[in-house]
Amino acid sequence: MARKSNTNGLLSPISIGSMKVKNRLAVAAMVTVYCDTKGYATDRYIDYHEARAKGGWGLIITEDYAVAPTGRGFWTAGLWEDGQIASHTKLTERVKKYGTKIVAQIYHAGRQTTSQVIGQRPVAPSPIPDPALNNDPVGLTIPEIKTIVSQFGDTALRAKKAGFDGVEIHGAHGYLIAGFMSSYSNKRFDEYGGNLDNRIRFPLEIIADIRQKCGEDFTIIFRISANEFVAGGRDIEETKLIAKKLEKAGIDAIHVSAGVYGSAWSVVPPLNIPHAWIVDYAEEVKQVVSIPVITVGRIVNPEMADNIIAAGKADIVAMGRGSLADPELPNKYKDGNIEDICLCIGCQQGCFQRVFMNEPIRCLVNPRLGFEYLKEMEKASEGAKKQVVVVGGGPGGMYAALAASKAGHDVSLWEKNECLGGEFALAPIPPYKGDMSFLLTWLRSQLDKEGVKVKLNSEFKASMVEELKADTLIIATGAVPVTPDIKGLNTAQVVLAQDVLKGKVKLGKKVLVVGGGLIGAETATYCTMQGCQVGIVEKENDIAVEEETTRRGFLLALLEEKKVNLLTNTSVKEIQKDKAILEKNGQAFDYQIDTIVLALGMKPNQELEKELAGKIKTIVIGDAKETRNALEATRDGYKAGLDV
Ligand code: SF4
Repeated sequence: MARKSNTNGLLSPISIGSMKVKNRLAVAAMVTVYCDTKGYATDRYIDYHEARAKGGWGLIITEDYAVAPTGRGFWTAGLWEDGQIASHTKLTERVKKYGTKIVAQIYHAGRQTTSQVIGQRPVAPSPIPDPALNNDPVGLTIPEIKTIVSQFGDTALRAKKAGFDGVEIHGAHGYLIAGFMSSYSNKRFDEYGGNLDNRIRFPLEIIADIRQKCGEDFTIIFRISANEFVAGGRDIEETKLIAKKLEKAGIDAIHVSAGVYGSAWSVVPPLNIPHAWIVDYAEEVKQVVSIPVITVGRIVNPEMADNIIAAGKADIVAMGRGSLADPELPNKYKDGNIEDICLCIGCQQGCFQRVFMNEPIRCLVNPRLGFEYLKEMEKASEGAKKQVVVVGGGPGGMYAALAASKAGHDVSLWEKNECLGGEFALAPIPPYKGDMSFLLTWLRSQLDKEGVKVKLNSEFKASMVEELKADTLIIATGAVPVTPDIKGLNTAQVVLAQDVLKGKVKLGKKVLVVGGGLIGAETATYCTMQGCQVGIVEKENDIAVEEETTRRGFLLALLEEKKVNLLTNTSVKEIQKDKAILEKNGQAFDYQIDTIVLALGMKPNQELEKELAGKIKTIVIGDAKETRNALEATRDGYKAGLDV
């Protein structure tokens, strides 16, 4: 049932300089990799933004528009030449139809890029490699600095001509401006280095150049990292001093973020980090300035955002990944349909991880993200009504059932277990992964609202096809664990990682996890929480290599903190009653155990597909097709639901 409409502070209007914004919800800049390689706006880029404008966001802050081709860190948008203006004008026109304001974030990557992206060595305040990229930047001369200042002003003017309501100067996250402002990366001792006034000369000159070229009524927001979370980086006290000086220089709002590439976990924090974790920094900045302050950082829930506004900690709440996960979050909140909001789970799989491969972003919980321009649902809804049976209630099967039902088909979803979720139901169980449960809760409620016939504890048999008069069968039966051929496998307590996470087995004190992939490593952390002494044996030379970088950093730290014995380059030769015989570099040795936990990967469960071959239209999705991550399963499921 819909709750009462909200009419609170989060939905109240606010002025940022001359720009009037209809509510306090902003889309934070997210690199999409949807523009073409020359920085021109594509249909994919425009339709992505339009979906968010339509969804009720008051303000959209776009991805970083490079002020020069050599200032790009990814294949982002650009406004470094007049020829780019027309395509971005189409964007602003489409967004403004919904009463949403749009500002272009403008930036120069500085040393946080590579010669593979820009075709030459990066530039920086000082010729010091970025620790995260290990590159080889060139220190800028003073004439070169002046040229870049002017490029910022020229880019802002192009943004104004393209119809943007303002610009956000990207002075955060270690890019060129941040690089000048921080002693972490600025080791100059001319007028652009050393003391604080010298280090902020570059951004102050940029602000002055933009004002001179774009006029007093053009909105300028400045984004800053409150704390860089690296040794020798800037902290909140210096940030507060800078904020006051930026306000005096004429900015209209300040957007308080955190981190640099060397602390990437703080730039795009994964689910290991608490929600709204840097809002107190925004509050501290707010106490020293009188312009609006924007906060950001793992805020995905509008009720939490409203609390932040009500407490006076910030004036606007920006959500990056929250807006990817559900473009309609503001409208749903406004209408009181909070349970319909699909929340970001902080997995990083579709967004952060793909950006660093220069791949268009996607979203695990929103399989439409980046495909808005295909109008898939509209096209699917034009077809005749069909009987659709989905077998398997993991996220892929649930999305398939939901999409098919929304497209107008009659859908039943069969799950042999007592609850939906499949393997993904185990995802929230290891430490720090509770947010993973958001997705299944949301999917379950949406299936319910959609009227999908969910059959739990119901194993689907091939013989049922005729009786059910199904037109299409979507096979989402997932994968089954791989069982190794190890001598003595039956002589000790040997259990599956999945059964450990389900709480089905009683663990002994000494646990050896066989297989150091992500499931093995996470199960090991879970076992430590049960008081076990844990080792992981892995035949390759590293652990959890398939995990996304920021999350992997937390996982490895937890394994170290819990003193998990990492036995890499090691294989299991034999299992006996109370020991495993392991081998490393040709040397065999004994390892005492009470319980062996198998985590040796999964293989597709294709039994049903084989039985039904040629008898009915089948679509095989997710791990049943090929074992991959949940990002692929949800997109597979959504598409299958439309392709019936
Ligand atoms: Fe959030 Fe994961 Fe979607 Fe990224 S891919 S927006 S982290 S749910």
